Amino acid sequence: MDLSVTPGNDFYTYANGVWLKNNPVPAKETRWGSFNELRDFNINAVKTILNEAASNKNAKEGSIEKRVGDFYAAGMDSAAIDKLGYSPIKGDLKRVRKVKDVKGLLNEVAYLRTSGAASPMFGFYVGQDRKDPNTMIPQLSQGGTTLPDRDYYLKDDARSQKIQAAYKEYITKLFTLTGTSEAAAKKNAETIFNMEKKLAAAQMARVEMRDPYKTYNKFAVADFSKTTPNMDWKSLMAKMKVTGEDTILVNNPKFFTELNGLLTSEPTANWNTYLQWNVLKSAAPYLSTDFVDANFAFSQVLSGQKVQTPRWQRMSSLTDGTIGELLGQLYVQKHFKPEAKARMNDMIANLIKAYEIRINNLEWMSDVTKEKALAKLHAFRPKVGYPDNWKNYDGLAINRKTFFQNVRNSGQWAYNDMVDQLGKPVDRTKWGMTPPTVNAYYSPVMNEIVFPAGILQFPFFDPNADDAVNYGGIGAVIGHEISHGFDDSGSQYDKDGSLRNWWTAEDQAKFKEKAAALSAQYDAYTVLDTIHVNGKLTLGENIGDLGGLSAAYEAFKMTKQGQSNEKIDGFTPDQRFFLAWAQVWRTNILPETAAQLILTDPHSPGQYRTVGAPVNMDAWYEAFNVKPGDKLYKKPEDRIRLW
Ligand SMILES: [Zn+2]
Repeated sequence: MDLSVTPGNDFYTYANGVWLKNNPVPAKETRWGSFNELRDFNINAVKTILNEAASNKNAKEGSIEKRVGDFYAAGMDSAAIDKLGYSPIKGDLKRVRKVKDVKGLLNEVAYLRTSGAASPMFGFYVGQDRKDPNTMIPQLSQGGTTLPDRDYYLKDDARSQKIQAAYKEYITKLFTLTGTSEAAAKKNAETIFNMEKKLAAAQMARVEMRDPYKTYNKFAVADFSKTTPNMDWKSLMAKMKVTGEDTILVNNPKFFTELNGLLTSEPTANWNTYLQWNVLKSAAPYLSTDFVDANFAFSQVLSGQKVQTPRWQRMSSLTDGTIGELLGQLYVQKHFKPEAKARMNDMIANLIKAYEIRINNLEWMSDVTKEKALAKLHAFRPKVGYPDNWKNYDGLAINRKTFFQNVRNSGQWAYNDMVDQLGKPVDRTKWGMTPPTVNAYYSPVMNEIVFPAGILQFPFFDPNADDAVNYGGIGAVIGHEISHGFDDSGSQYDKDGSLRNWWTAEDQAKFKEKAAALSAQYDAYTVLDTIHVNGKLTLGENIGDLGGLSAAYEAFKMTKQGQSNEKIDGFTPDQRFFLAWAQVWRTNILPETAAQLILTDPHSPGQYRTVGAPVNMDAWYEAFNVKPGDKLYKKPEDRIRLW
C-alpha cells in the first residue's frame, strides 16, 4: 500500500502503490499483477507435472501421463524441431500453390480447416442456437484477418502505421524463410495486407458485435447460398464435414456478401498468396527457431514484450491449450483440494442469496420483471474446479518424435470433436476453460457460472484468510460472473439460456439509462494520457464489476466478521473487503500492450476496475471517509445502482 495517498483521491495507489513500484513487468511478460502472479505460479506447477510425466520411463502406453509427457517432450526437443526447418508445411504450400480457380480455392479453405492447419477467410464453429439453446447449429462468423482488430487495417495514425509496416515485414520474412525471393516476398506482403484490409472493412466493429440480436441471422442454407453465389454452402459445408444441416447462423451477413464479391474481383493468384500466408502464419510458432523468432519479433511491436517467453512456458501453455483436460486431470490431483470446492459452494450460495435480496430491494424495477430476474438467478448452474466428465481425446495420436504432427493432429481432433456435436443433445457437462486457468466465465446460453481450479487460490481465495479478503476477492469474482447474466448483453437471455425478452418496456428503458451512465463514467477514464477507455465496449464487464462487488459486499455483511468492527492489521472489516478487491486488480502494464487492449479487451484496465465500482457504493465512502472535494467523490444522487 501507499499510505501517503488519500484513498478518496487515488484509491488504486493507496491500496497498491508500494507493490506497483516494486513489481515492474518482467522482461518475458507484457503485464504484471495478481492474475499474472497466480498464472506464473500455475504454469510452474504445470511445468513440474509435465517434466515428471515426460521423464517417467514407466508410464504405460496410452495412459494420461504418457500422452501428456510425450506431447510436452516433443515440444521441448528444439534440436529435432530446428532440423526440420519448414519441411512440415512443404506439402501444404505445394498443394495450395496449385490452386487455379475459385472452386479449388474453396476446396482448399475447407481442407485447411478440417485438417487443423488454418482457418482462412471466415470463422466457422458449432454452438448452441441462441434462440433454441437445446439445439446445436453450424455458425459462420466474420474473420480472415490477422491483426488484433479491424482498426489496425483501417486507421492511419502513427501507431497503426508502425504496426502495419511491422506486419508487412513479418509476412516478407516468413516468405523469404521458405525460399521466396525478397522482391517477390515484399510483393506478397502488399497483396496480403490489401486483401486483409478489404476483409477488415467488411467486418463489424467490436461494439456492434456485442449485440446478440444484430449478430443473430438465421438462414436456410439454400437461401444463404443465394446471397453468396460464389459459395454454395451445402457443398462447402459437406467438405467441412457438416452434412444434413438445413439452417445456419451468420453473425454478419454483409461480411459474406463482400467476401463473395472478393472471390472473383481479386485475381485467384492473390487468393493463392493469401492461402499460403494462412498456412505460414498458423504454423510459424511450431516450426524452427527462425520462424519462431520472426513471429516473436512481430508480436513485440504489438505488445512491447522485451524477451521471448521461455520454451518450457510456451510448451506448457500449448499442452494446456491442446490437451488441457488430460493435463488437467494430473493438475487437479495435485493442486485442488475438496475443501476448496465445499467452501466455494458455500460462497456461491451466499452470493446467490445476496443477489436475491438485492433484486427484491431494487427501487427502479417492477415486480413483474423482478420475478423473471429471480427465476433466472435461481436457474444458474455453478461449476467449480474441474469437469465431472473429462474429455479423453480418444483417437488423437501423440508421438514423442513428431511435434508438428501432434499439433496438427490436435487441431484436427478438436475440429472433429466440434462438428460431432451436431444433431446430438447439448452436452451440459462441457467446460470452456481448462482446470489450471486463472479465470472464470458466465455462459448465457448455458446460464452457468464456471470457476476453474486455477483461480481458487490466493489472492482470490484462501481458506485461511478472513472473510473480508475472500469476499473482496473470489466473492466479487463470483458476483461478477452472476452479474454477466444481468449485464447489457446477458440480461437479454432468459433463465433457460434463450435469447428472449423478459423485461417490461419501462424497466428495460430504465436499465438502459443506468447502463448509459455507467458507460459515460468509464468513457472519461484514460490510459497513456490521452487514450480513452471505450465505455460501450467494456460495459458488460463494468456491470459485472458493479453488480458483483455490490453483491459480494451484501454477502460479506451476512458473515460474523461483516457484522463486527474488529480491526485486523489496523483496518476495519469493510476496509479489508475493499482493499482485497483493489489488490486483485493491481497491474503494471507495458504501454504497447495497454494501447492494444484498449482497442480489443472488453475489460477495463485494472486501475479503473479498482475504482469504477466502489465509487458507486455508499459503503466505500463510509469505509474510507471519502468526502466532497476528494477526486473520486461522486454525489450520492450520481452514484449508479444497477443490481
Ligand atoms: Zn467478466
